This record gives sequence, C-alpha cells and structure tokens, in this order.
Amino acid sequence: VASLAARGEPKKDVLLGGLLLPGFDEQSCVSRYQSVYYRKNMTRPPSPHLLRRLRQQEALQRRCGPGTEPYRRASERLRSGQNAGDDFVATVDGCGYLVLISYRGLGNRILAITSAFLYAMLTGRVLLLDPGKTMADLFCEPFQATSWMLPGDFPLEHFRDLGEDAPESYGNVAVNRSGSVAGLRFVYAHLDHAATPANRLLYCDDHRQFLHRVQWVILRTDSYIAPGIFLNPAYKEELDMMFPNKDAVFYLLSRYLLHPTNDVWGMVTRFYHSYLKNADERLGVQIRVFDGDEPFQHILDQILACTSQERLLPGVVVSGHGGGVAPPPIARSKAVLTTGLNSWYHDSIRDMYWRSPSATGEVVSVHQPSHELHQHFFRSTHDMKALAEMYLLSLTDKIVTSGWSTFGYVGAGLGGLTPYIMIKPENHTVPNPPCVRAMSMEPCDHGPPYFECTKKEIDKIIDTGNLVPHVRSCEDVPWGRKLA
Ligand code: GDP
Repeated sequence: VASLAARGEPKKDVLLGGLLLPGFDEQSCVSRYQSVYYRKNMTRPPSPHLLRRLRQQEALQRRCGPGTEPYRRASERLRSGQNAGDDFVATVDGCGYLVLISYRGLGNRILAITSAFLYAMLTGRVLLLDPGKTMADLFCEPFQATSWMLPGDFPLEHFRDLGEDAPESYGNVAVNRSGSVAGLRFVYAHLDHAATPANRLLYCDDHRQFLHRVQWVILRTDSYIAPGIFLNPAYKEELDMMFPNKDAVFYLLSRYLLHPTNDVWGMVTRFYHSYLKNADERLGVQIRVFDGDEPFQHILDQILACTSQERLLPGVVVSGHGGGVAPPPIARSKAVLTTGLNSWYHDSIRDMYWRSPSATGEVVSVHQPSHELHQHFFRSTHDMKALAEMYLLSLTDKIVTSGWSTFGYVGAGLGGLTPYIMIKPENHTVPNPPCVRAMSMEPCDHGPPYFECTKKEIDKIIDTGNLVPHVRSCEDVPWGRKLA
C-alpha cells in the first residue's frame, strides 16, 4: 500500500467503510489492502447493523474456533456421541458449528462459502470450511487470531461421503423423526441444487424447531443459498437491518470474506498491469460452454450478437478486398478480457480486429489469461488460475457472462457489475435475444425452495418468485431465485 501511495495514487479507504478490520499483517495477505486500488469505489456501503453483526461473528469465531477449549470439548462430544441431541445453547460454552463441505467447481464453492457464512451469522454458528485440496492456496484467513479452516483432526472422518439418505439428514429428521434429534451427534444439511423437497425444508428452519438443539451442522451445498434464506420469514427483520440494499449481499460479504492469497493476487495484478490498466475502457467476456469443451460457432455468434446489440464492442469494416479502410482513429482504446476453457473464441475475436479496422476507430485489444481446455478437480494451480480470472473479470467496467455459470456470477458479483447474461443456447442456435441485462449483480440460487415457509407443503410447487419483494426468478435459470 505504501508503494502505491508513493506512486502518487490518492489514498483510499482500504478498510471499506469499516467492513474490514485493521491490524492484520499486511505482507501476509496484500490483496486485503491493495484491492481497493484496483476496484471502483464501493457503490453499496455496509450498514451499521451489518458491521455490528460481523464484529459479533468475529468474536464468536475466536471464542469457539479451532484451538480453543470450547472447540476441544465440542469435537470430543461429536466424537463420543455423548450428550447427543442435548440443547447446545444450554451448555456452558454456547458454541455451535456449521461445517461446509467443499465440492464442485470453484464458482460453486465461492457461492457456497459466502452464503453459508450468512447462514452461520444468522444462526449464531462458527463457520468452518472443509479445506479440500486447494482452499488454503486460494484464500487468506478472513478472521484474526483464529482459523476458519476445519482442523485435520476433525472427528467425523467420512463427513464428505454424507448423502441425503443419511439418518442425520435434515429431511429425515424433519419428516421421519418429526424433528427429534435424540441420539444424533449432528444434523446433515443437504442443500445441493438437486436436493429433495424434504431436505430443502432447511431453508424454512426458523431455528426454534430443532436445529438449535444440535451443536454440529454439516452443510453440503453447491449453491448460493442466500435468496432461499430471504424467503424465510424468521430472518426477515434481521436481514432487512443487515442489508437495506438487497442487491448487495454477495457484493458486501464477498469483499469481507474473500481475499486471494499473495500468489493469486500476483497473478491478478501482473495481468492487470500488462493488459488492462491503460485502456480507456475494459470489457469482460466470460465464456462458459456446457455442451462440450470444443469450439462452437453458435457460441461465437452469440457473443458477437450480444456485444453488438448492447453496443459493448464496435463492429468491423470489411471491404471486398481483404480489409477495409480505417476510419480516422479516435484515440480510444478498449481492452477486452475473455475467460474460458477454450482459446478459440478469444483468438477469433482478436483476429477479427486485427484483420479489419473497427467501425468506430476504437483500438480494440483482446486478452485471455489461460485456456485450460478441461475442468479439473483438486489441482491448486488450476483453481488459482480460475480464481485470478474471476477477480480480473471483477475489475472490468462492463461484463458479459454466460448464463447458468457460477464462475460468471462470481466475476460479476465481486465487481459490483450488473452483467449482460448470455442465455444458454438450445439446439446449437443463438437465442433471441442473445443476452439480457440482469436485474441485479446478485448470483442466482439454482436450488431454492418452491414451497411457502409458513405452509411447508413440500409436494405443492408454488412460484416463490412472487412471494416477497426482492426475491425474483433468475434471468437465465427460470426456477432459480435471486435477490434484486
Ligand atoms: P460453473 O461450472 O460455470 O458454474 O463454474 P465453476 O467455477 O463452479 O466450475 C467450473 C470450473 O471449470 C472452474 O472452477 C474452473 O476449474 C474451470 N473453468 C471454467 N471456466 C474457466 C475459465 O474461464 N478459466 C479457468 N481458468 N477455468 C475455468
């Protein structure tokens, strides 16, 4: 930070209006203090109530987290099954835990972490992350003097194998055991996007029923569960106070929680300085194809139809004899950051602006950090590239994303950018329209509840997109729900 200030950058509020705390070791996680110099100013300041709740959560994480006496006692209870099903709130420690299982792609995992943190705050639990194979290489610790990583000696050895048929699953406890947790060491919350309706009842748990009696909750989700939580009347008042702007939940929580490690931050900043910084305008284009990893003409056509329709990129002048006559250059430059597993889309767009002049005279450059070809699991360098690219997308001025993609949701949401979403094509044809302007920068929840919490009629599907203000049907996934 000192060096940025020395280079003549005006000093900025690195603590983001109180969202972040001072006192961290700057060198061990420079992104926490530097990112403000790369981002636009905060458009949604944190509310005083959110700040209060964050400080409470930090205190809870410190008091009950790994390495503390309460944590030791709680994990001993979990191991031995002693006092299972007792009221944990009544124990001397008053420490409850939410353990998040890490699975699926990085975009999914980031949405899960951010929204699980919200759920932990609302239910007064310590959030502990399954470190998986790569999490520690990706993110710094968000809390001081404690760790949010689940310790290696966590007593439930096979917790990653839990499935929704488990006797401890929320659906089983709610439906088959009528909420009795007697004899259970923990409850398993299965909120995968394809969870059964019974397991989705967790979205409606008002914590007065049975979950408050359970010290350990193991959560599996690949989704952004925040919109579903907003459908629960039990949390309405609290959420209203925490988030007067309903479209800024991911924006604020991700800035609070997610600080890339120095290695990832180096990848972000080196690329930014080399290819994006000096342009007059930056456009992000996130290309995620669910039909296969090989190039598809209709996807390229869709990207160009979208950027043309929304006037995000100029057309090119093509004459009959290989190359048109350039209009007088207007000294404006536009840097396009493309991300994707395949480099063909990037190469094609770059070629287009190399072979022909742009119709406006703008100088268009096109850059893509990586082309990994296929999605991989459990590889640190692969995940680090993915994270660096989501961050780079968030540093652009405008962004086009691929519908259905959590990778794109994160890129847009982190940047506070309302994306132009390319609707997922059917039958290999360009949809009409090719893209739509999103109603907000919030991610879409792909597995929300579709019953009313007050009625809990799980067999009756209703339109939860009209139940409460601010929770709407997503642009790209009709049964998904998002905050707006
Ligand atoms: P989603 O599948 O689009 O919802 O996004 P996820 O991030 O959950 O999973 C896709 C995974 O594939 C990523 O985490 C990366 O591992 C990989 N991937 C997909 N698109 C890209 C990309 O543009 N760049 C990089 N580096 N990796 C990508």
